[in-house]
Amino acid sequence: MNRFRIIASLAILISLSAMAQEEDKKKFENDFEKYKKQREYDFQNFKQRREAELQKMEQDYLNYYNQMIGLKSDFVKTGEPEKAQTVQEMIDYENSIAKTLGYQIPERIKEVPNVEAAKLNAAKQQNEEIIEDERNEGKAAEPPTTTFKSDVNSPDGIPVLTPLPKNLAKITSPFGIRIHPTLGRPIKHNGVDFGSGRGADVYAASDGMVVLAQYNKTYGNYVIIKHNDGISSVYAHLDKIIVSKGYAVKKGDVIGYTGSTGRTSGPHLHYEIRIKGIPVDPKGYLAETKK
Ligand SMILES: [Zn+2]
Repeated sequence: MNRFRIIASLAILISLSAMAQEEDKKKFENDFEKYKKQREYDFQNFKQRREAELQKMEQDYLNYYNQMIGLKSDFVKTGEPEKAQTVQEMIDYENSIAKTLGYQIPERIKEVPNVEAAKLNAAKQQNEEIIEDERNEGKAAEPPTTTFKSDVNSPDGIPVLTPLPKNLAKITSPFGIRIHPTLGRPIKHNGVDFGSGRGADVYAASDGMVVLAQYNKTYGNYVIIKHNDGISSVYAHLDKIIVSKGYAVKKGDVIGYTGSTGRTSGPHLHYEIRIKGIPVDPKGYLAETKK
């Protein structure tokens, strides 16, 4: 009798525990589904915010480019050929970066130095790009984690390393509109300046490929490294470049030394981050430092 009771209780216990396990499993699956949906939602949100931000950045950039075209003719009119020349060099620099990174500066902006026309054109261009993006979106069903890689050691990871030794990496001129040091006008600064002094090591901000290493009369010796996800880093006014186009670099590799080549008020590093060729504030890409 006793034995029977024990067996019966055991059987009840076992089936209860099986039921509980089944419940747990369901709960886990539900939670996981919820979690997945939340992650997907967060990712879409993040992507939209990032796209919106990039669109604003692109608008600012096209305004900048347009302003340069206008400024050049202003300086020609006011009989300031040296300033007109500087502006032309800045335009040349933008054109070589755009060409290297495959960014199309709208033709109409190049032709018509008219702010309203430029705005219209930029808006139209953006619309076309959004439509194009939407088309591409269906095809590229990538899992969320691949867009922003947190694994900075991946072969082509996003730039995260401050490009100078920690003690020399003081930002002396931020990203955004400022009075241009030689042109004396409010002009957007497409990067940040580090008041590094001369001869400091300049580090690759992440793994990537050197896609341009050349000289510009205003920006001096400069290097462009292409990383992951359409992101590139640009290093200008270098005293010396020690890499060439086509070099594969690792994060932290020395690519050159700081200097004051081009037009500068003193030795410093001009550093840019570009997404699909569009300059964005490098401040968000300086998470790591090296001695
Ligand atoms: Zn600068």
